[in-house]
Amino acid sequence: MNYHILTLFPEMVSDGLNTSIIGRAAAKGLLSIETVNIRDYTKEKHGHVDDAPYGGGAGMVMQAAPVCDAYEALCGRLGKRPRVLYMTPQGKVFNQKIAQELAQEEDLVFLCGHYEGIDERALERIVTDYLSIGDYVLTGGELPAMVMIDCISRLVPGVLNNDASAEIESFHDNLLEYPQYTRPEVYEGMQVPEVLLSGHHKNIETWRRQQSIRRTLERRPDLLAEANLTDKERKYLEELRRELAEKRDPIDPSDEDGQDPV
Ligand code: SAM
Repeated sequence: MNYHILTLFPEMVSDGLNTSIIGRAAAKGLLSIETVNIRDYTKEKHGHVDDAPYGGGAGMVMQAAPVCDAYEALCGRLGKRPRVLYMTPQGKVFNQKIAQELAQEEDLVFLCGHYEGIDERALERIVTDYLSIGDYVLTGGELPAMVMIDCISRLVPGVLNNDASAEIESFHDNLLEYPQYTRPEVYEGMQVPEVLLSGHHKNIETWRRQQSIRRTLERRPDLLAEANLTDKERKYLEELRRELAEKRDPIDPSDEDGQDPV
């Protein structure tokens, strides 16, 4: 996987992605991270890449020419025209499914805006996908690009030591991950669940699936509609739903006729 990031702040992205698992994967050659400074493509005397918006209004807008020229120069070097993902709060909200789809590409271009954004004509010309990391506004597209690159890279074969770990993480199968524990067995009087110490793999697997279902129901019930569950797990989910509903609306034993109090 080769990432190309078009930005006005290249050091922000390269410093941020040069550590931990992603940094090691890049050092091993499993992925490459190239930053392109959009400012290198301005033809203006003072290195300006932005100007006031037509029609008035606050802030500055990044000009079309340096953005498009940076992309065209990149395509010339690569000999192909990769997908261009524009980081924008107006885009589709990024998620694990989109990450899985993007991980199949060989090259991805991340276009980072700043100030009030980028002249619409540049976007019309080169952007293939509009992506957001959530319904809030940030200063620039660098952090969103880093978030997406981190997430996509975990799905590139070989990046995680154990390939299985990406498969059983949260959002795989539309379920959140089960709770995790490590040494010591007892911390501040709190014991690790007995089943995890049993060495009984089948029971551990069942316990973890049930914990995933419970946690998803409690924290992200919206995911369950598309979760891949067995018949037995669906039954378990129904029991949990009943249990939760009873906790919310306990039946009042004094209310014998079941009528609403007057
Ligand atoms: N004026 C723009 C609007 O209202 O849509 C917001 C501009 S924002 C201050 C500057 C840049 O930050 C954007 O061009 C975009 O690249 C990036 N950005 C801000 N929030 C983002 C988000 N939630 N997801 C992805 N990119 C974002």
